[in-house]
Amino acid sequence: MIDPFGRTISYLRVSVTDRCDFRCVYCMAEEMTFLPKREVLTLEELDRVCSAFVRLGVRKLRLTGGEPLVRRNIMSLFRGLSRHLRAGALDELTLTTNGSQLARYADELRDCGVRRVNVSVDTLDPAKFTEITRRGRLEQVLEGLAAAKRAGLAIKINAVALRGVNEDEFDDLVAWAGGEGFDLVIIEVMPMGDIGGENRLEQYLPLSLVRARLQRRWTLDETDYRTGGPARYVTVRETGRRLGFITPLTHNFCESCNRVRLTCTGTLYMCLGQEDAADLRTPLRQSESDAPLDAAIRAAIDRKPKGHDFVIDRRHQRPAVARHMSVTGG
Ligand code: SAM
Ligand code: SF4
Repeated sequence: MIDPFGRTISYLRVSVTDRCDFRCVYCMAEEMTFLPKREVLTLEELDRVCSAFVRLGVRKLRLTGGEPLVRRNIMSLFRGLSRHLRAGALDELTLTTNGSQLARYADELRDCGVRRVNVSVDTLDPAKFTEITRRGRLEQVLEGLAAAKRAGLAIKINAVALRGVNEDEFDDLVAWAGGEGFDLVIIEVMPMGDIGGENRLEQYLPLSLVRARLQRRWTLDETDYRTGGPARYVTVRETGRRLGFITPLTHNFCESCNRVRLTCTGTLYMCLGQEDAADLRTPLRQSESDAPLDAAIRAAIDRKPKGHDFVIDRRHQRPAVARHMSVTGG
């Protein structure tokens, strides 16, 4: 699949549920209304649509959410999709998780061919962790990370930079990740979705500042390592681990974008920062044949926009994109 700007689309991220056991302050409001079940693709439908993408050339699948590991019977989807790894049609099957259920599932994920996981940890302070996630327990996530490590999974930590919340912790996070053998990616907060009383402008911390502060203690060596995504990577000389920065607000990363995103209702977003989307659920449910589905996917890729323009609107304080990150999974 090649889009109108010559980019090969080889990476699909799938939000398998909009539900989550956490309510992170930058991601969700305290009270969330989740989707009714009939709107959400069944696990069989998710397998079918993922398999269509694989057939059309996707080489990398990432399951995300909401929290993918809280969806009932989710392992059957991983198990099913692992057949594409064995057949050589897929290079990677992976997930982004908050880690709360990892202790339970790490071995099984490894058994399904998963080799790497992204786990979100914004702070190493247990009280602050519960404050940010509103209902998470750091200890449970650390147990999950230990289980993932024992299972032989490579681990990348995602941390969202929040002004006045975890901004003094990045030295500790770099040291901790280095000691554990994890890569670390620091994410600038993005203006997505209504998050209730929280204020985006108050949360916003530019990564240029985070990076400048890190450079006082660490030697950050430039690398040309890229994943086709928005992260720019350096190597921390003292730990030997990679450190990535995702700065959607201050940088344009669209020219190398190789990905599209599917929601749990079967809506395909061709760009994280744009509203244009394609409905894949209708062609999926309308016919047992995959022909209408394949045609809808191809038509959507033909509309992939050149790029986005996120802004935190200072006058209106409205999110630049109305949907929550938990809808498209980040
Ligand atoms: N529940 C899983 C997790 O937390 O890793 C997967 C879904 S979560 C939406 C995916 C990633 O998006 C997480 O690393 C989270 O920190 C990040 N995220 C959520 N809302 C965000 C926002 N408004 N700005 C930047 N990153 C955000
Ligand atoms: Fe849940 Fe992940 Fe959003 Fe936090 S960031 S509320 S863990 S979906």
